[in-house]
Amino acid sequence: MAKYYQPEIETASREEIIRIQNEKIVKQVKHVYENVPYYRNLMDEKGVKPEDIKSIDDIKKLPFLTKNDLREAYPYGLLGTDLKNCVRIQSTSGTTGKRVVAFYTQNDIELWEECCARAIVAAGGTEEDVCQVCYGYGLFTGGPGLNGGSHKVGCLTLPMSSGNTDRQIQFMMDLGSTIICCTPSYAAYIGETLAEKGYKPEANKLKAGIFGAEPWTEEMRRSIEKSLGIKAYDIYGLTETSGPGVSFECEEQTGMHINEDHFYAEIIDPETGEVLPEGSKGELVFTSLDKEGFPLLRYRTRDICVLTRKKCSCGRTHVKMSKPMGRSDDMMIIRGVNVFPSQIETVLLNEGYSPNYQILVDRVNNTDTLDINVELNPDQFSDKVAEIQAREKALESAMRTMLGIGPKVHLVAPKSIVRSEGKAVRVIDNRKLHD
Ligand code: ADP
Ligand code: ZN
Repeated sequence: MAKYYQPEIETASREEIIRIQNEKIVKQVKHVYENVPYYRNLMDEKGVKPEDIKSIDDIKKLPFLTKNDLREAYPYGLLGTDLKNCVRIQSTSGTTGKRVVAFYTQNDIELWEECCARAIVAAGGTEEDVCQVCYGYGLFTGGPGLNGGSHKVGCLTLPMSSGNTDRQIQFMMDLGSTIICCTPSYAAYIGETLAEKGYKPEANKLKAGIFGAEPWTEEMRRSIEKSLGIKAYDIYGLTETSGPGVSFECEEQTGMHINEDHFYAEIIDPETGEVLPEGSKGELVFTSLDKEGFPLLRYRTRDICVLTRKKCSCGRTHVKMSKPMGRSDDMMIIRGVNVFPSQIETVLLNEGYSPNYQILVDRVNNTDTLDINVELNPDQFSDKVAEIQAREKALESAMRTMLGIGPKVHLVAPKSIVRSEGKAVRVIDNRKLHD
């Protein structure tokens, strides 16, 4: 079984990777300067000329791009080539505001699909596999990205898109899907529905899942692996840099290899913009080294993570990023304390609850409130009030230990929290309404 999709580049020496990056960045900066007036202005304002960029180390001299720049330049302001050279448009899912559109040339699509193919092969995919793609396709990048990667690997591809869970399950069972690609929250929902229909995890032929597009914890991974009887791999990406496949997990499951021949990653201090050394936690910044349609340089993702070059047992040499613990704008500041939804998810799954929860933040009498609705599993359901109250108290105390502040926990009936078929909406922050 092939272990790598493109062995030469995936296991290239550090020197070789740097050589490729040096060569590509010089060309890319020149290309952007000449073709993207919006970025040329930013460079001019900073007093940087394309000639100043002689190697990848000089990247620090370039200005950052932010989501606001993308919104300001919407729709065509950051286009890197004539529209007639572009063959596709995709768009973000709009999790944090107005959508962003991205453009692809045929070459951009090829490279993007190759990145996704690397991820599928890393998850054990071969031409023998049946790959069920249940990420959305409607402008969202998840569906088309994995679909293209699956074709490149030669898997028999099921372009299901998300939703219609009964049909997902019917095809999965009838056609013997071996790989499933979707958001982790949808994978959890499919696992739950399989169990309800009386299928044991061994009843399906799935061996691997490729899950991403939203934050998920290690506890969530174990829960999905158990319910579907698979090994679950993480995959990361964003529309601004092409889509899923910017980085992907290998069998070691200790972070995602970034496809460094196409994307240069930096970690910066989100407050000062200073580049931080390897191993520091900070905001991830990406430069697309060879994209033509939408060639973003130093794009600030707002995702918080850590990079490591520690040797990986899979043999891949590309730098690894940790699971993003959430976006900087997912972080809630509640009574002055930083709280991430992922911390809440960890406590819930460790305490034996379902991954079905909702976080409600509000402000009452000038004080922030944090309420967490948590669904009971059917076997935890009880009509004894005292029992439920004791459970709520225990969970509140576990939360206080993890978060440093005490939330109010409300246990609710099984199936009462709406399930997600794409990216789950975990937080409802009503404070924004009062601002
Ligand atoms: P948006 O959600 O901003 O509308 P996208 O659909 O392009 O736009 O999603 C990209 C974002 O999704 C990333 O910036 C990141 O926050 C999140 N994301 C993608 N993959 C993962 C992953 N594996 N783990 C955590 N977060 C992820
Ligand atoms: Zn590896």
